[in-house]
Amino acid sequence: QFQNVGFIGLGNMGSRMVNNLVKAGYKVTVHDINRDVMKMFTEMGVSARDTPYEVAQDSDVVITMLPSSSHVTDVYTGINGLLQGEKSIRPALLIDSSTIDPQTTRKISLAVSNCYLKEKRESWEKPVMLDAPVSGGILGAEAGTLTFMVGGPEDAYLAARPILQSMGRSSIYCGASGNGSAAKICNNLAMSVSMLGVSEALSLGQSLGISPSTLTQVLNTSSGRCWSSDTYNPVPGVLKGVPSSRDYNGGFASKLMAKDLNLAAASAKEVGHKGPLISKAQEIYKKMCEDGHETKDFSCVFRHFYNGKDE
Ligand code: NAD
Repeated sequence: QFQNVGFIGLGNMGSRMVNNLVKAGYKVTVHDINRDVMKMFTEMGVSARDTPYEVAQDSDVVITMLPSSSHVTDVYTGINGLLQGEKSIRPALLIDSSTIDPQTTRKISLAVSNCYLKEKRESWEKPVMLDAPVSGGILGAEAGTLTFMVGGPEDAYLAARPILQSMGRSSIYCGASGNGSAAKICNNLAMSVSMLGVSEALSLGQSLGISPSTLTQVLNTSSGRCWSSDTYNPVPGVLKGVPSSRDYNGGFASKLMAKDLNLAAASAKEVGHKGPLISKAQEIYKKMCEDGHETKDFSCVFRHFYNGKDE
């Protein structure tokens, strides 16, 4: 249904997602404030435009993959933004894959639904925004194996699926606008807390005389088993091929985890939800970043926070 796809935000994730869209045969038009990265794409034969507004002129679908809520708001509603104060726009579908808070997603989605389509499409009256944040990291973006968690009208989700499938292996429909963003920040909250729990348990175990490998074996065959113990273990040498076994390089940076916990805290505050573990995890990851480990994988809490082996 859609062939002309605009893409804004060509960073670690976005640049790899664009490569997969191009491979799948979509006609892609890109934009980023970083001119060097735009040049890299034009040299590969991909069209680049100077503003989000110009991307919108050429695209039936626009995907954004930006650092945070303020960047997404700016790209949609700022000067030269996708909507640029216009009532009629060309793109029928706007997909935001950035990790942002659901409240911002819902505000932007409302602004989109107040617009009209420049050219009416069969059974498609108005432009629609979907929130479709991802799980899978840089490796998943590269391999085209991301998981999308999607919020917005279901018929728009079904129309977007072929595009999402060219960049990911699975997508989960989460319900109304903002629910994809909510799913993403809740998943990362659970992941951060389970990582802290496993790190604290393995560190205490070590102090009590049981090796992390043996205790991991126990956890993984008992009720303490979770992704942080059996797939992404934080203790160097327990599992091969995970960040803890390569000095916590690669993987999911502590600063991104800190950012996602800030989103969880802000969202919880807005709906009056008590979250004692959000505050504790936030405090620990903030300290990790202040201590200079912001680019290390988030599982480095084991070494730098619990095990006291700071370099
Ligand atoms: P990044 O910082 O590498 O890339 C962001 C890109 O957006 C940069 O190229 C930057 O120049 C561009 N940009 C910033 N402001 C802009 C603007 N106003 N207009 C146009 N371009 C602009 O970030 P990333 O790692 O690609 O992550 C993007 C999003 O995906 C974030 O919300 C992040 O939380 C989420 N995410 C990242 C990972 C990961 O492992 N890196 C995993 C899942 C989700």
